[in-house]
Amino acid sequence: MELKTEIKPKDKCGKLPADESTLGFGVIFTDHMFSMSYSESKAKERDKGWHDAKIGPYGPISLDPAAIVFHYGQEVFEGMKAYRWKNDDIYLFRPMKNLERMLASAERMVMQPFAAPFVLEAIKELVKIEKDWVPKSPMTSLYIRPTYIGTKAILGVQPSSEYLFYVILSPVGAYYATGFNPVKILVEEKFVRASPGGVGFTKAGGNYAASLLAAKKAKERGYTQVLWLDAAEHKYVEEVGTMNQFFVIGDTILTAPLTGSILPGVTRDSIIHMAKDYGYKVEERLVSIDEVITASENGTLTEAFGTGTAAVVTPVGELCYKDKCMVINDGKVGKITQRLYDDLVAIQYGEKKDPYDWLVKVC
Ligand SMILES: *Cc1c(COP(=O)(O)O)cnc(C)c1O
Repeated sequence: MELKTEIKPKDKCGKLPADESTLGFGVIFTDHMFSMSYSESKAKERDKGWHDAKIGPYGPISLDPAAIVFHYGQEVFEGMKAYRWKNDDIYLFRPMKNLERMLASAERMVMQPFAAPFVLEAIKELVKIEKDWVPKSPMTSLYIRPTYIGTKAILGVQPSSEYLFYVILSPVGAYYATGFNPVKILVEEKFVRASPGGVGFTKAGGNYAASLLAAKKAKERGYTQVLWLDAAEHKYVEEVGTMNQFFVIGDTILTAPLTGSILPGVTRDSIIHMAKDYGYKVEERLVSIDEVITASENGTLTEAFGTGTAAVVTPVGELCYKDKCMVINDGKVGKITQRLYDDLVAIQYGEKKDPYDWLVKVC
């Protein structure tokens, strides 16, 4: 398939705010987007399969009100970032991991596979066109949101025979504008995020709609997010919001295994790699909330943190379960948490050598 570029002088022409500290997350969008369409069958041969791949103006899309995505939620997405280095080079971080995960999400939702290498080239081309939108201030970046939806207009519950895939870009601010602050997390007792055999391992839109109520209730009570427990026993810790969760207990870094109800985070994988390289003991295994409480009581729970593309690493300062709150490391950022955060960020922004070949140059 050929990638067409349809850029015209009259396209929306925005620019970064002069003060990049006002960027926030996912609030403003760049001038152009990538899109491509899929049709199972069409009168014209050239409209069959994946077709019409193009980079064009960013703007509203027109869909039939009966489109499957609106009724049955056939939608998956991704989240990754482009980073501007001090020398103005622009890099992506492990983008193929995101696209492979998107293919896994799509497969679970019975959506058509796409050629990940082609999409990666399209994303690189789009970011190159929008390179002036990649902010310069420390810890800012250009967030990349690949989105994939079923568009066939039909009300029967079935996999769509037509799809739209698009990528939009949003310059985002430094997550920790006010410093690297430990958050307060509520262990969720009643609601669950994902169950065995379900779709927890996918970045499917419905997962996030289903998580809103628990997050809202937790926020009303002064917590940043909830820590989900497993659906079957309400016993094992799974993950937090859009972050994978880690605990440091004794000399071991612990995180839940990828058993299908947990999102396989690219940041999670990177942190595990780095921690092992530093010689820390890392275990991917079931961790019960009781184990965490016991470790807190006997003083062996020394650190807790979440990992995800948006914030990279988020230290947890306080974890509350039922009517008990555990303060972790006096509510301060732990040594291991800080080291992993500093080093991963340094790799992403080209301030430290990337020994893993994780970075992909855009321009
Ligand atoms: C996206 C996401 C993560 C983090 O994944 P990264 O690839 O590290 O950004 C973790 N949990 C959930 C539920 C997510 O949606």
